[in-house]
Amino acid sequence: MQPFILVNSEVRDECIAQGIDALRRGASAMDAAERVARAVESDVNDHSVGFSGLPNILGEVELDASIMDGYSLASGAVAALKGYPHPISVARQVMERLPHVLLAGAGAAQFAQEVNAESHDLLTDDAKAIYLRRLKAVTQNLGVDFGDSASMPLTRIQSQISSLPIPLSELVRRAFEYREGGDTMNVIVRDATGHLVCAVTTSGVAWKYPGRVGDSPIIGAGNYADDRYGAAACTGMGELTIRHGTSLRAITMLQAGLSLADAGRTTLRDLLPLSRPTHAWVRLLLVDREGHSGGFATHEGATYKTQGLDEDRPTVHTCEAVA
Ligand code: ASP
Repeated sequence: MQPFILVNSEVRDECIAQGIDALRRGASAMDAAERVARAVESDVNDHSVGFSGLPNILGEVELDASIMDGYSLASGAVAALKGYPHPISVARQVMERLPHVLLAGAGAAQFAQEVNAESHDLLTDDAKAIYLRRLKAVTQNLGVDFGDSASMPLTRIQSQISSLPIPLSELVRRAFEYREGGDTMNVIVRDATGHLVCAVTTSGVAWKYPGRVGDSPIIGAGNYADDRYGAAACTGMGELTIRHGTSLRAITMLQAGLSLADAGRTTLRDLLPLSRPTHAWVRLLLVDREGHSGGFATHEGATYKTQGLDEDRPTVHTCEAVA
């Protein structure tokens, strides 16, 4: 079977093309997955991943990412990483250089610096403007004036936040929107030998409490790859897939002998009771060991893309809605 790349459909074709080019030039599945992820992380128009991602409630962009090798089950991940636009590459370095899987916060940043990862201020003017609109909307009548805050430095905005008469947790509760956001990047690469690599990278849910970690860097929740059975990745409300172990659960169903369609459907149906109270959504992308692929979602209209090495452009597919 031709190698192929599967992504959630918010990933632009040009980003997928970078992975396809890499595979055509003989790159490994791991290199191709990292290439696609880095391209998405660099995209200024993508407010859900990497540079220009939407920030936490204090206006700081905190990134999560993971990468998993389906042959060895080697994995690396970073969480709540600030100041480094390519968390996927830092995650890969965690996998390759450390006897660990997941680094978070200050330790992740220290390691990123140690491996000379590119550093950059991640909050763009555009993302800051979206953040401030939200902040103003949810703090009306609380007696704090955020003024013409587009030009206001972040430190000043943060000191205004600390003078609000409500705790930060209440501000998060007001700002947070379960239906919003959520176009984390999932990429699954399958090479000609059937080897699978799965990479996930995100700025997480917008307006989160500082230090909140989503499912993207949690192996078994937002990412799983095992060449013997398949690979799975999730987008949507990470709190649901962490509690449910969604990616590993889907792979376990493939291991138990279910077809790809049954594994995807059963996994997401099983998650529905968790999603109902908040109407938060989840999308699961799945590839089995024979190279069949599919997408499943708790809502209508979700899509994903695939592109084979012999194809000029990606094909968009509709996820099966399991609601
Ligand atoms: N799954 C991500 C998270 O919970 C959000 C997303 O899909 O964009 O952080």
